[in-house]
Amino acid sequence: MSKTEPKQQPDRGGPAQPLVIVKDLKKHFPIRSGLLGRQTATVRAVDGVSFSVRKGETLGIVGESGCGKSTTARLLIGLIEHDEGRIVFDGEALGDDISLKDMRKSMQMVFQDSYASLNPRLTIEDSVAFGAKVQGLSDPAGRARDLLARVGLDPARFARRFPHELSGGQRQRVNIARALAMAPRIVILDEAVSALDKSVEAQVLNLLADLKQEFGLTYVFISHDLNVVRFISDRVLVMYLGEVIEIGPAEAIYASQAHPYTASLFSAMPSMDPDHRTVEPPLSGDPPNPVDPPSGCRFHTRCRFAEPVCSQQKPVLAPFGADADHLAACHIHDQASGHSLAKEDAIS
Ligand code: SF4
Repeated sequence: MSKTEPKQQPDRGGPAQPLVIVKDLKKHFPIRSGLLGRQTATVRAVDGVSFSVRKGETLGIVGESGCGKSTTARLLIGLIEHDEGRIVFDGEALGDDISLKDMRKSMQMVFQDSYASLNPRLTIEDSVAFGAKVQGLSDPAGRARDLLARVGLDPARFARRFPHELSGGQRQRVNIARALAMAPRIVILDEAVSALDKSVEAQVLNLLADLKQEFGLTYVFISHDLNVVRFISDRVLVMYLGEVIEIGPAEAIYASQAHPYTASLFSAMPSMDPDHRTVEPPLSGDPPNPVDPPSGCRFHTRCRFAEPVCSQQKPVLAPFGADADHLAACHIHDQASGHSLAKEDAIS
């Protein structure tokens, strides 16, 4: 007997309960060499990351390539196992109160490579219907067609096509429909619009915003494009060398960056608004090797404000400025006055 169509898992903790809480999450990858494959080093890809994702929000995650943002996404959804730390989903601790299988029912991920995400031998309709079919849900094909229409692909034209017959933007719409087919509560979008042309990117971003409202979704949006993150995010989390160095409301962070790394990262962002240009010099050089990250503040080898304490003592996330939601990990910004290094530099 077939089951009914998938429904979102119920909200357990109420709106004030974060949907996901991540506490001290770590993932270290061993590097092996030699004939015996002995471990010779460890890459600290994610190294003690803590944050929460609130219900109904879009949390943007930014940082240079290799900062750990994509590894964090894969840990969140359980594609790779964390070494240490804790993930709590809607009040239930992963491994104790909720299994990975049950948590995954509420989570879906959309990747950057729209083609590699689809089975080239399945039609678009079959790709979207696949998950529902495996679970024995009713009318998977009908639901797939409904979702294709919802993401802007006319089922009469597209349902029987194969992935290679679609453009990159159309394929990414199919991947979004596939994600929605399982009625998730949270969708993790890992560079999901980065490979698209700018005009198509804007269409997909608007589609994501509409679907979020319609389906009551929460997003984690990972991107290197700060303009895109600004458009879609309610809050922004900045990572550097496997650590969270700043987090806060998008509006507050885009107006005034508390951490010198964030300020340098944002200085590379093109802006047409003269009031939002910064004179902070862009980042120079490559990030240090994550096998042997710098002591204390990991940014001290590239930070022009570094003082001796910076290499000796690790700064912790602390409130910055008037907004208690805006946190940064830097020794020298003045938390009491909300004084910003980036602002000071722009004025002088
Ligand atoms: Fe720069 Fe020191 Fe702040 Fe790190 S703690 S960002 S090195 S000023």
